Amino acid sequence: MTIFSKIIAGEIPCYKVAENDKFFAFLDINPVNWGHTLVIPKREEDYIFDLTDEELGEMMVFAKKVAGGIKKALPCRKVGMAVLGLEVPHAHIHLVPLKNEGDMDFKHKIENPSPEKMTEIAEKIAANI
Ligand code: AMP
Repeated sequence: MTIFSKIIAGEIPCYKVAENDKFFAFLDINPVNWGHTLVIPKREEDYIFDLTDEELGEMMVFAKKVAGGIKKALPCRKVGMAVLGLEVPHAHIHLVPLKNEGDMDFKHKIENPSPEKMTEIAEKIAANI
């Protein structure tokens, strides 16, 4: 079971943003920018391009809804999207609100994001989806 499956199962806490029967979205615990969100399929698959065509399409539509919530909830020009997947072997899309290119620099993380602010942001995004 991956760490992300444990989050879906409620065994590990997270700052949940959205969920449907097949997908789940929650804040990245080490955000590159406030509102950095991960979108994952509930079915465990390591590599995003090993998802079926249907799953990949549905995941993108779900990510689009979440991105809409991020854009309404937080000041940004656009919501950027990235797929890395080198750390956690459970397919995921990174969604990051952007004002400029540097907002999506994965080498620079926000240090010790406060649980209060993370909770506030997750609730605000959820309320705007
Ligand atoms: P990568 O697999 O390279 O796309 O990176 C995995 C991402 O998952 C990183 O940005 C981590 O900060 C994030 N991450 C790892 N564990 C957790 C967790 N328990 N809750 C939220 N985000 C996590």
